[in-house]
Amino acid sequence: METTTLSQSHISHLACSACGTTHSAFGPQLLSTCCQLPLEAQYESEEPLPRSILTNRVGTMWRYREMLPVFSDEHIVSLGEGFTPILPLLNLGQKYELKQIQLKDEGQNPTGSFKARGLSMAISKAKEFGVEGCIVPTAGNAGVAMAAYCAKAGMKAVVVMPRHTPKAFKEECYWYGADVQLVDGLINDCAARAKELNASGSLLDVSTLKEPYRLEGKKTMGYEIAEQLNWNLPDVILYPAGGGTGLIGIWKAFKEMQQLGWLPQSIKLPRMVAVQAANCQPLVDTYFGVQENCRNYMGKPTIANGLAVPRPLGEQMMLNVLRQSGGTAISVTEHEMLEGLQELGKNEGLFVAPEGAAVWMAARKLLSSGHINRDEHILLLNTGSGQKYMANVEGKYQL
Ligand SMILES: *Cc1c(COP(=O)(O)O)cnc(C)c1O
Ligand SMILES: [Zn+2]
Repeated sequence: METTTLSQSHISHLACSACGTTHSAFGPQLLSTCCQLPLEAQYESEEPLPRSILTNRVGTMWRYREMLPVFSDEHIVSLGEGFTPILPLLNLGQKYELKQIQLKDEGQNPTGSFKARGLSMAISKAKEFGVEGCIVPTAGNAGVAMAAYCAKAGMKAVVVMPRHTPKAFKEECYWYGADVQLVDGLINDCAARAKELNASGSLLDVSTLKEPYRLEGKKTMGYEIAEQLNWNLPDVILYPAGGGTGLIGIWKAFKEMQQLGWLPQSIKLPRMVAVQAANCQPLVDTYFGVQENCRNYMGKPTIANGLAVPRPLGEQMMLNVLRQSGGTAISVTEHEMLEGLQELGKNEGLFVAPEGAAVWMAARKLLSSGHINRDEHILLLNTGSGQKYMANVEGKYQL
């Protein structure tokens, strides 16, 4: 790949996701000081930024350099994340009479999930701001990714995960040299423990949406979807939503590309669908008015560990994306995930994370209910590799 020096970031400031109040992008930031809600990076450039800058760029998420928040190239901590393939699901398409169904395979990222994108970005910014160590409450994949990028950056890593997390996640963290703390409960219990452990504030808490930069890593999926589809977009995108950074990030990317003039003026943006586990479906319940918000939601564990997020901080941001895009929210049972896992395995040779299996099953349900038509362009996000979930799924296939 091309090795020309990449130019610098066009980040201008951070804005409160609720009220828009400006915060500086030139020092460490956590939640907005006005509303205690997530901050979003904003970019400005005096010169137009044409799509042609992408010619001969590296085959990683760092190809969108100007629209990423890292100031100096020397702070980039990369293991080759991003630019994952979009695969056509020809066999399933034929079986279900679908005109065009594709899957973006995020399981091919370093550390086996799309969490690599967010943590590569967050750890790069942590390095840029001179942070000595990071801590994260995690359902599994975020902890593994943080441990790997901290190792690469020479930073201390503390990972706080539920005791029931499959062994593969814990093991990999140990091999990266992380301090792993096990907690009885779900990710919100881990968050409380992380807060105690970091009472002195010496570590940077890189929890989902608590610092602004994991979102910037995740948004690169949106840039890639547009670029890889030759600046066309699917009619509908299905995404497994836990904390929601991917859902929010992909939509943010579409909005940024519209501003940049990278997408055709007339383009219709995709309907965004949030897929959750029936065992933990706070967003579905709020979206359909079962509860006012997720503040008191109680979730149960699920084999899709990444979806066990009972009280996501970015709930309102996710709801905005669903409403603005004309999408919806839907949940999938544990049994359905296993069926989807087997169907993707047998028909497409893909061993996806249960989260990815959930997305396929959600597509089937929405096709049945008429929310998606058979002649639409459908894109599924498989967010992780099935390998790490072996303890959750072993032996559960139907012969
Ligand atoms: C974390 C995770 C999710 C949920 O992602 P969010 O950005 O938190 O919504 C989905 N799938 C996998 C495999 C994950 O690790
Ligand atoms: Zn605010």
